[in-house]
Amino acid sequence: MEEKLAKGISEYFQDKEHTANKYVLHCFTITMLVYTVTVILNWLDIFIINKTVMNRGYLICLAIYLTTMVITRFLSLSSEKTKYIILFSIILTYSVIGIHVTYHVILLCVLPFMYAVLYSSKRVMIYVYILSVISTFLVVYGGYYWGLCDANMVLLTSDVLNSYTDGEQFVLNTVNVNPTLTLGLYYVFPRCLIYITFVAISNKIFDIVSGSFEKIQLTNELEQAKLAAEQANRAKSDFLAKVSHEIRTPINAILGMDEMILRESQEDHVKEYATDIKSSTNNLLNIINDILDASKIESGKMEIVPVKYDMGKILKDLYHMFDIKARDSKLTLQFDIDSSIPSGYIGDDVRIRQVLSNLLSNAIKYTKEGSVILTIRGRTEDNKAILSFSVKDTGIGIKEEDIDKLFFAYERMDKKQNHYVEGTGLGLNITVQLLKLMGSELQVTSEYGKGSEFFFELEQEITDFSPIKDYKDTKSQTEESGQYKENYYAPNARILVVDDNAINRKVFMHLLKDTRIQIDEAESGQQGITLLEQEHYDIIFLDHMMPEMDGIEALAIMREKPFGKDVPIIMLTANAIIGAKEQYLEQGFDGFLSKPIVLNELHTIIKKHLPMKLIKEKN
Ligand code: ADP
Repeated sequence: MEEKLAKGISEYFQDKEHTANKYVLHCFTITMLVYTVTVILNWLDIFIINKTVMNRGYLICLAIYLTTMVITRFLSLSSEKTKYIILFSIILTYSVIGIHVTYHVILLCVLPFMYAVLYSSKRVMIYVYILSVISTFLVVYGGYYWGLCDANMVLLTSDVLNSYTDGEQFVLNTVNVNPTLTLGLYYVFPRCLIYITFVAISNKIFDIVSGSFEKIQLTNELEQAKLAAEQANRAKSDFLAKVSHEIRTPINAILGMDEMILRESQEDHVKEYATDIKSSTNNLLNIINDILDASKIESGKMEIVPVKYDMGKILKDLYHMFDIKARDSKLTLQFDIDSSIPSGYIGDDVRIRQVLSNLLSNAIKYTKEGSVILTIRGRTEDNKAILSFSVKDTGIGIKEEDIDKLFFAYERMDKKQNHYVEGTGLGLNITVQLLKLMGSELQVTSEYGKGSEFFFELEQEITDFSPIKDYKDTKSQTEESGQYKENYYAPNARILVVDDNAINRKVFMHLLKDTRIQIDEAESGQQGITLLEQEHYDIIFLDHMMPEMDGIEALAIMREKPFGKDVPIIMLTANAIIGAKEQYLEQGFDGFLSKPIVLNELHTIIKKHLPMKLIKEKN
């Protein structure tokens, strides 16, 4: 019932037809409030007008108020006719009641009401004021002249007259001596001034009240819309995270199996197919990672994880990765690195790598001929370095009007020209947000048709002052050559892999085939625990998301088993949204490996955790 009423009222206020009625109600309500205060003051003997008259006036005004409330609920003031009927009734009521009750009461009650009714027409409002002043004069003067009331517009009954002759002789006497002058000077003129002042004040009050009323309503609506939007956004981010996770799991299988084809096939054209599968799957993976990153940033879950890192290593990986791409596109890639800048820093190497990768990848993507140059300059202050990075290309450039839109998510410029270039429009948005989290800002200058330059500065704490080693020397094994070869074997080592996905277990075992490590597999946390109760393992790889018992629960139980106390347990997961390595390490894992498995990361982690005596290096 209440809900229905609230809905009715809100619909009523939203209806433009009733806007004028809304103003009337506001003004009338204010008037009644003022009047109620006046009546209370009068009862308390603070503001003295004849009490009987005042009370009677109050009741009449209250009746008018309630009637108006009801009438305006049904009337549409948009019709001129209705407006004038109301106006006429008001003047009539004003004049009639004016003879019977105290003047001020009418002033307080009727003026704002008239004003509200005539809100939309200033001209008519002025006429009404002139009329009301004249009618006041007539009523006051006429009332006195005809012996109906005194100059205070109190009806002259014997009671009232007595009280006047007792206490307020001055008024009657003065009026008697020169009624026109007295009325003009002491009543009509000051009251005209009061009228005007009152109109100005009520105008202001009206503005404030109606303004704040609308503001409150608007703020509430905005607040609700914001909440709904935030909720929808959260749902979207969660959905993206979940879908990305689900997609990463089969990608792990595709990449793993493809790796096996690359290794085991003897036929060149089959290897070529497998290389194409690998490159497309890696592209897909990059898109998924971008979506994951964007949703992480949006939901505020992206964090910068500072660790010790070597700038030389980042440059080496980037150089080898993008040199191939640049050559494929017939471009020259140049790295112009200040030889005096130190090599070791504390910072988030993963994110710095990602930022530079995005910029280099764009520069190559959007350049048809010429060159791409990465420049790094730096200056040191005590143990801090301020590094300036710039990626400059001789590509298609960006139109001036597009530069402002460049950093919005999913925004792609010059779609006609760029339709052949793959992309989601997320890269630059992520880059900007990551730099922001690292206290920096991405800047861009560009000339359409000639090329662009993206640049930023980064402050990093120095840990190693020795200069950066030659990043162009040996080839990095992280590059996408597909030719990674492990340089060790460990036939006496025993590894347990726990994963509910059979293909992923198969991929894992195949990837380690050449190391001849003995691998046991378990399809659930419980099965893994049972195996661990009977056997000793050198390393356990544990999946996170498994039905019944997840990896984190399984870890806790495994740690209680005699064989589980000291065994290195590595988290193996496609769950990259919660996948911050540190979080898993805090939970008690000894390492973290993300799916799809990057081969050299798998071997690095195995070599790190296997006892030395079990590892035999290959020649
Ligand atoms: P994507 O490359 O996936 O479309 P980005 O967010 O990395 O998304 O870039 C957004 C848009 O900015 C691109 O679509 C492209 O129009 C423009 N852009 C980015 N880098 C360059 C560049 N180096 N030269 C010209 N245009 C660029």
